[in-house]
Amino acid sequence: MKLCRYGNTGQEKPGLINDAGRIRDVSAHVADFGPDAIGPEALRRLSALNLEDLPLVEEPVRYGPVTGTRKFIAIGLNYADHAAESGLPIPEQPVVFGKWVNCIQGPNDPVVIPRDSVKTDWEVELGVLIGTGGHDIAQADALNHVAGYCVINDVSEREWQAERGGTWDKGKGFPTFGPVGPWLVTSDEVGDPQALSMWLEVNGKRVQDGNTATMIFTVAEIVSYCSRFMALEAGDIITTGTPPGVGLGQKPAPWFLKAGDEVWLGIAGLGEQCQHFVAASPTQ
Ligand code: ZN
Repeated sequence: MKLCRYGNTGQEKPGLINDAGRIRDVSAHVADFGPDAIGPEALRRLSALNLEDLPLVEEPVRYGPVTGTRKFIAIGLNYADHAAESGLPIPEQPVVFGKWVNCIQGPNDPVVIPRDSVKTDWEVELGVLIGTGGHDIAQADALNHVAGYCVINDVSEREWQAERGGTWDKGKGFPTFGPVGPWLVTSDEVGDPQALSMWLEVNGKRVQDGNTATMIFTVAEIVSYCSRFMALEAGDIITTGTPPGVGLGQKPAPWFLKAGDEVWLGIAGLGEQCQHFVAASPTQ
């Protein structure tokens, strides 16, 4: 099943995507796809609906992000080749950092380049949405806590991330740095999360081409590992790291985003995003 939220910011309605890729309005059956609506029982009820009985939505519409997320957790350096291009050793344990929850936005909403930013960068990533919370989750049980998967661009300001001292968080949570969606694809439809191809293009040039098969730590390992240090809750998002080809690693010289650039990205079966990068307004 593919879940979405569609409509203007703050007015999104819940929808389901049919086999033809069209949105069906499911708001008569569920108020919204917040944390209460993505647990196993709620998803079972939704899956019993006949999509063709639901109203067809006039498109194009804006896709909104997931809602009700209380933690946006990110994993760094989770692809060996990306660690190498970053000039950093392969981590022995998952690198965990935070993206501020209010950087989450729709998959195709414009991304603001911060004032005076010189190193705004891209990262296509597999996003994991927690459907059932838990603490100290066994690895063998971890995927049972996952409602589904989505595309995420872990937009990053490298100077703020790495050259201002302290943690990576400074460069990861600027407003608009968390495009999520367009869909949440449920675990049963995705199958093996370690066999998904992913890509990203900047202004039409393919720069990232990867597959979740080359993750250092699998989704099950990451969910279990994070739950050792915190209580995961329904609606939490874990973004699982990026394959090689970010701007920082471009040869012969790094390539960072400027106002006017366009970034396309996608993951097989999970849909695509397209963002226009814009300058911060002078008043910010
Ligand atoms: Zn990342």
